[in-house]
Amino acid sequence: MIFPSSLYLHIPFCRIKCTYCAFNTYVNLDNLIEPFVRALIKEIQIVGRSKPQQKLHTVYIGGGTPSLLTASQLDRILTTIRHEFDLLADSEISMESNPSDLTSEYMAAVKAVGINRLSIGMQSANDTELKLFERRHDLDAVLRAVESAREGGFDNLNLDLIYGIPQQTLADWEKSLQVLLSLTPEHVSLYALGLEDGTPLKTWVDTGKYPAPDDDLAADMYDLATDMLGSAGLAQYEISNWAKPGLECRHNLQYWRNLPYPGVGPGAHGYADGVRYSTILSPQRYIKLMNEAHREFVFPHTPATEQATVVDRESEIAETLIMGLRLTQEGIRRDSFRERFGEDLLDVHPETIARYEKNGLLYVDNNVVRITERGRLLSNMVFRDLV
Ligand code: SF4
Repeated sequence: MIFPSSLYLHIPFCRIKCTYCAFNTYVNLDNLIEPFVRALIKEIQIVGRSKPQQKLHTVYIGGGTPSLLTASQLDRILTTIRHEFDLLADSEISMESNPSDLTSEYMAAVKAVGINRLSIGMQSANDTELKLFERRHDLDAVLRAVESAREGGFDNLNLDLIYGIPQQTLADWEKSLQVLLSLTPEHVSLYALGLEDGTPLKTWVDTGKYPAPDDDLAADMYDLATDMLGSAGLAQYEISNWAKPGLECRHNLQYWRNLPYPGVGPGAHGYADGVRYSTILSPQRYIKLMNEAHREFVFPHTPATEQATVVDRESEIAETLIMGLRLTQEGIRRDSFRERFGEDLLDVHPETIARYEKNGLLYVDNNVVRITERGRLLSNMVFRDLV
């Protein structure tokens, strides 16, 4: 069966590096944005031409801060995608953004070039927490950004929040959730703060300047969010994601269903034609490599491909299980699994699945295997045992 693909684009620029961030993104390189856009267009052409007539049903422009690109640069990128791929008429085209960039004029222009889903990095409704993160915006900027996005015609908005922040109380978190809900987003993503090596926040915690996040409190925050978002009509469909019915992020569903998504741009990851790969990190090197690219490449490789691994059947099954079990409602459909791998899921891991079903961590029926609410708390153990 041929599944339509998704395309991921990585924009590796930010104005300020947030104190918790370990993404592949760079500051003070605004002079490289236009050469980067030209290089990205070239990589999209290489990926499109090395496998003609690929159907795409989602495009995700992530980063970094894609909202540093002008509407005209986004237009050139999307025009290239339409030219090189079979972009289906009802495709979801998402873009991540920083609230500070979202004026009404910019929002209207971005909507006009075809972006139809906007993700706004809100992160917190508490200005002290936003300052700790050295975010480029305060709460007022978030409120204005959502207003501008609505004025610009966006009817599919995601808001991100982070919980488990040093010194954050349950009451602080409840306030952030209340403010978020007052903005009536169609989609919400919640992330537990991770302390990543090399980030200022990790150094501050390691040196005792701030307390380490409290896991039990973070679990209470997660439970509170589950209750509040559910009561507001946002259904949880993935461990960290909630949406109004029918507005689940189709691009991210592609990841969790372990379906193909070529990735372009420095620091992108991709999975296509049985190859999982990542691209080089440096924007300067990326631009140089694209400028020098003249020969043809075998899909999904491009001059930017750095590491590529052919995914064997066993790994594909393991990845399909781990990612599918993140989907709290959908789980893993047994008929799709059988169609893809030629055997029933219950025959692949009979003992493990039976054991976890018996102790209430997995739900199993004729159609589906999915993780239970209790299983979510122990999901890492379940995932580990299934691979
Ligand atoms: S805006 Fe996002 S990508 Fe950029 S530094 Fe902050 S967290 Fe990282």
